[in-house]
Order: sequence, then structure tokens, then C-alpha cells
Amino acid sequence: MEHFDVIVVGAGLSGIGAAWHLKTLCPNKTFAILEGRDAIGGTWDLFRYPGIRSDSDMYTLGYRFKPWREAKAIADGPSIRAYVRETASENGIDRHIRFNHKVKRANWSGADARWTVEAETGADKRIVRFTCNFLFMCSGYYSYAAGHDPDFSGRDSFQGRIVHPQFWPEDLDYKNKRVVVIGSGATAVTLVPSMAETAAHVTMLQRSPTYIVSRPGEDGIANWLRRRLPAKLAYMITRWKNVLMGMYFFHLTRTRPQKVKQTLLKIVRDELGPDYDIDAHFNPRYNPWDQRLCLVPDSDLFEALRKGKASVVTDTIDRFTPNGIKLASGKELEADIVVTATGLKLELLGGMQVAIDGVPVNMTKTMAYKGMMYSGVPNLASAFGYTNASWTLKCDLTCEYVCRLLNYMDARGFKQVIAHRDPTVEEAPWLPLSSGYIQRAADILPKQGTKQPWRLYQNYIRDLLMLRHGRLVDGTLEFSSPPAQAKPQYALAAE
Ligand SMILES: Cc1cc2nc3c(=O)[nH]c(=O)nc-3n(C[C@H](O)[C@H](O)[C@H](O)COP(=O)(O)OP(=O)(O)OC[C@H]3O[C@@H](n4cnc5c(N)ncnc54)[C@H](O)[C@@H]3O)c2cc1C
Repeated sequence: MEHFDVIVVGAGLSGIGAAWHLKTLCPNKTFAILEGRDAIGGTWDLFRYPGIRSDSDMYTLGYRFKPWREAKAIADGPSIRAYVRETASENGIDRHIRFNHKVKRANWSGADARWTVEAETGADKRIVRFTCNFLFMCSGYYSYAAGHDPDFSGRDSFQGRIVHPQFWPEDLDYKNKRVVVIGSGATAVTLVPSMAETAAHVTMLQRSPTYIVSRPGEDGIANWLRRRLPAKLAYMITRWKNVLMGMYFFHLTRTRPQKVKQTLLKIVRDELGPDYDIDAHFNPRYNPWDQRLCLVPDSDLFEALRKGKASVVTDTIDRFTPNGIKLASGKELEADIVVTATGLKLELLGGMQVAIDGVPVNMTKTMAYKGMMYSGVPNLASAFGYTNASWTLKCDLTCEYVCRLLNYMDARGFKQVIAHRDPTVEEAPWLPLSSGYIQRAADILPKQGTKQPWRLYQNYIRDLLMLRHGRLVDGTLEFSSPPAQAKPQYALAAE
């Protein structure tokens, strides 16, 4: 069995970032990346629907260590994929990746202070095993095998084509076709203007509205700075500008939700004119940032609506019919193609089963420590980004923290670290959004706690101070070595 100091699971944005941090901050550590698919890039390789792009800016979605050099701040999928691949190749990370290794199980041996990781590989799903001292899960947050696809009644009777954005068929020809996109999340608002360019008409069919904000696709200040300053400095300034602006806006949504709501609705009204029924189609029932805000670059969605190439219908699906979709209002939407942009299926730790000394761990009973480790589970961390800001901001900090932890353990001769749950800390839902896909997954997610270090503040500056500069030995983490190899035994709150 091959052994590594660290096994990283996943070669997406987070996994490649984790590898960079390991190479840079823990140069003596051996590591491998086990990747279930045959490509680097994760989300940015999987999703191929028309118009696929980020919905947060690349100065914060990009890595802290690698400037985003393109003019567009809201970037298309292929450019992001190229950025992740370039990071892997220019740092020799690609050599560490084992493609087509889908990790299924990990068992921790307390006696050896090691994980045995089982992965399926090849067409015959052969099981291969590796051991490692530390397991770093960079497997994203949703199932790659299936999206969320509600079982609409009459679906089989529909004579057109039904497509889920996660599995976009290369051969789909929608030119001059009538398209209905079900959903109003980030994917729907991306697809609608993009498909509307050549389709006969695109209808965005939503059960209820979402907040939609338009932002310039290019960041004028970032591009101005890049022309005048060294790339790294310009990137750092823009990154901080966007972090602070994002935090300020989020703070306003918490402290003055009605004011923010009115401002957002006014912007949509200015885009679509006084005659458009904003209340019916763009006025959500919840407050801004109770669910993720949808960003559209350069008003592309509003432009498609203004030109009549696309329209929005707010109604409930009664059933599919041979020609389209019958709505609860009695109206029928005729369609040649229906796109079910109904969302993702959340999945924790890439669907991997975790066991400790052969006893399965119920991850929903664990509490997340600093949003990355899990109570009672030794030597395992996961990269999980923000819900109210770019994913990579948190993942970069998580990677730095994991490297600090590994270096600390090496220096003191500790083999294992475990976060012990504090029985006085109350449980709270892990993710603070009211979005359907998060509520549906409530029973598969771990919990967060009501106070530090168990509470998730979704706040970059707070996390930066805690993860980059905070004490590792905090009375919650227990560092130890298994008795057979024990030199220093316990160092609980000793330093
Ligand atoms: C369409 C779309 C747009 C998005 N846009 C944004 C945005 O603009 N801004 C933002 O902040 N976030 C966005 N997100 C969230 C996005 O997923 C993250 O930004 C980021 O790409 C996640 O990177 P990751 O590497 O953590 O996970 P992923 O990109 O999901 O990569 C995980 C990798 O792990 C592999 N893997 C999973 N399970 C296993 C296993 N058991 N064994 C082996 N390998 C495994 C997968 O094959 C994959 O390669 C978006 C998500 C989607 C779906």
C-alpha cells in the first residue's frame, strides 16, 4: 500500500490550491491528489452549459498567490478552468494527481494514527488502497453523479428534450427553438441570456423570484491598476477592495435589509422600465442574502428581457404535457426544450464514508471546528468556502491553517490532532441560507456551534485573524501520539 503524509481528495479549485500550499509551506511532506474524474478543474470542468461563468469576481475567486490577469472580472468557465490548470502545471502539481480515483471510504486506525483510504478506479471499479497521516477533503459540496431533478408529473409525456445543466449534451441544438428554463438561480440567469442569442424564445419559469443584481463584467479600477502597477500588487489591492466592498454590502443587508431591498428593486426597475411587473417577477419573499444573490454581468439578462428574446413567468408547475408545461394558473408554456436548472444535490466529503477503527462515523452528529475539521474525527480537514463571498477566500485560509497545523505537529512530534466537542456549546445549522438546496440537505450536514471556534461567521477578516494568526493550541484541539510510538503524550492547552 502506498503511503503519503497527506492525501488531498479532489483536483478542483480547492484541491489544486491545497497542493500549492503543501508544496510551498510544507515542502518536505509527500502528498497525492485523488481525483474521481479524468480532469483538473472540478466545477469549472464539469459544467459546460452555454454562457457558464463565475458569479463572483475573479479577484476574490482566484487564489491569493496567483494574480488573475484577464480583463474580465466575471469570467467564463473555460478561462477559470485554464487558470486552475495553469496553476497545476506551472507548480508541478499535476504530477501528483491520480485521476479516475473515486474515494469511497476512509478508515482511521487509532493504533497507527493513519487513514486507510479506499478508492474505486478503472472501468471495473477496482478498489485501491492508500494510507496517509492526514486527509484533506477538497471534494466540493455537491454530487457529481446527480443534480437535483424534481420528479415533475407527466415528464415522460413531453415530446421535446429535457436537459439538466450539470449534464449538458454537446449535441443540443437550440437555434430557433422554444426553450423553457426552470429555475431562477445563478445557472438559470446565466443560461437565459446566453441561449436567447439564438433560440426562438427563452422563458425563465420560476416558482418565486430571486434578487438579481447587475454588475460590470470588467472591473475598471482593477484594469487601471494592472496597467500601472506590478501584477501582484494590483491584484492584492483589487482583492482587498472587493473583499471590503462585499463585506460592507453584506453588513448592510443584515443591518438595513429593507433599505437594501428597495435599492435592489429600484435598480431592476431602472433596467426594465415602469411598465414591467417587478413585484411579480423580481421581488423575493425573503431579505437580501437570506439566499445567495444572483449576479448578472453587464445587464445581460435584462437586455434579453428588454429585447423580447426572453421572458419571465412566475408560477407553479402543474405537470408536463406533450407540448410543454401546464402551470397551476391554467396557462400552458409551449416548448421544444426544457432545461431543469433546479439546482445541485449537496453532498458532504464527496460521498466518502468515514470510519474510526472500523466504526462508521455519522457526520451529521459532528460539529464543524473552524468550519473545516469535525469533532471526534482526527487528522481530517475539508475545504469549504463562504456562502456570502467567493469560495477561494476561505479555502486559501483553510489551506494555510492546515499547513500550520502539520508543521506544528511535526515540530512537536505529534501524530494526531482531534477537536473535542464542548457539550456546553449549542448546535446551529451549518449553512445559514434559506435556499431550497441547503434546506433539502439539512439532514446530511454536520452542525456548527453557537460560539467560537465552532461558529461560522462567514467573515473573511475574522477568519484571517483566527486562521492565519490565531493560536493552534486553544484548549479544543488535542494533540497526541498513539501509545506505541508515544514520545510527547498530550499537549492539551499546554502552551
Ligand atoms: C455553476 C457553478 C458556478 C459557481 N460559481 C461560483 C462563483 O462565481 N463564485 C464562488 O465563490 N463559487 C462559485 N461556485 C461554487 C464552486 O463550486 C466553487 O467556487 C469552487 O469551484 C469549488 O471548488 P472545489 O475544488 O472546492 O470543488 P469542486 O469544483 O466541486 O471540485 C471538487 C473536485 O473533487 C472531486 N471529487 C469529489 N468527490 C470525490 C471523491 N469522493 N473522490 C475523488 N474525487 C472527488 C470532483 O471530481 C472535483 O474534481 C459555483 C458553483 C457552480 C456549480
